[in-house]
Amino acid sequence: MRTRRDTPLGFQPPAIGDEEIAAVAETLRSGWLTTGPRAAELEQRMAEYLEVAHVLAVSSGTSAMHLALLALGVGPGDEVITSPITWPATANVIEHTGARPVFCDVREDDLNLDTSLLPSLLTGRTKAILPVHLAGQPCDLDAIHAHGIPVVEDAAHALESRYRGHKVGSLSEATCFSLYATKNLAAGEGGLVATPRDDVAEAIRDMRLTRRGDGARYDQTTAGFKANLSDVLAAIALAQLEKLELHGAIRARQVALYDDGLADLDGIVPLGRDPRDTHALHLYVVRIDPEAAGATRDEYQRSLAGEQISTSIHFLPVHRLTWFRERYPEQAPLPVAEGAGEEVLSLPLSPAHSDEDILDAVDALRRVHAAFTA
Ligand SMILES: *Cc1c(COP(=O)(O)O)cnc(C)c1O
Repeated sequence: MRTRRDTPLGFQPPAIGDEEIAAVAETLRSGWLTTGPRAAELEQRMAEYLEVAHVLAVSSGTSAMHLALLALGVGPGDEVITSPITWPATANVIEHTGARPVFCDVREDDLNLDTSLLPSLLTGRTKAILPVHLAGQPCDLDAIHAHGIPVVEDAAHALESRYRGHKVGSLSEATCFSLYATKNLAAGEGGLVATPRDDVAEAIRDMRLTRRGDGARYDQTTAGFKANLSDVLAAIALAQLEKLELHGAIRARQVALYDDGLADLDGIVPLGRDPRDTHALHLYVVRIDPEAAGATRDEYQRSLAGEQISTSIHFLPVHRLTWFRERYPEQAPLPVAEGAGEEVLSLPLSPAHSDEDILDAVDALRRVHAAFTA
């Protein structure tokens, strides 16, 4: 067995090489600091990659979801059904439209929306459903689409996912991706909205920028935001796009090392991956059952930190965070999400890591498990 590392292993460091650095330098020399030809090229390349009519580049995954909801007419008095197991931004953008987030519990296996609960949550005010493809496992989109309600997908983890053979990105009214520093396509910051609908694309184009217009005197017909993507970031995203497959293959190897290395540990079980789908392998999440594993997730996380292994939590249930708890004090319990929130732990996964790094993480977890179950 390996011994404890003497250097820290980061959780999800970006894999940035000379190509990204050269692309940034070239962009700076070109004079395009704001949105220009590289953002347009990224939109076109991503539309081809995702096999969808339109891709709009925006400033973040958060603004992608916000603008997609607004483009679909979501506003005050409406309800949007979403997952409690997500980054809070997913629920925050619903709040920012003036609508109310309605949290639907998740299923034990992969912590995606439990679609059997949707009929009990739909009302005359339900204007959209906002599912989250956690870790890169697609939600059950057929069951979500079956209700005839517009769907905005939070696909921040799901670039490279396929649902029953179809690329995530063209299957709903809007699909939102993030280019945040840890994501499969990492520009640092940025987001993309993919949509097959001309009207949704046009509305987002109008809203993402307060435009100066063409004439000598400017005017505006809508109160625009400032959610456009800079060419400097688009240039990084374009360089990352060239490596998407390579980086995916590296993560796939890392996932296999975890699957093999952790299979016999009692009480440590990875989230389910449906063989009918292509998983984007954005995160490697295990659930730690304190009964069988001898300690809680928080204790495991602390011990792994002591072994120089950084981990993360995806996610604490959003509806239990102070702001949502105080705003909606009467909300129903969501037992599966609340249980999972205590048990999930994400292990280091990144194309910047070597196989040796991942084997260090495996062995550290095995040592910690051995100590807790002794
Ligand atoms: C990263 C992330 C977001 C937000 O994306 P940003 O680009 O940081 O705004 C939204 N939802 C999920 C599930 C995420 O992981």
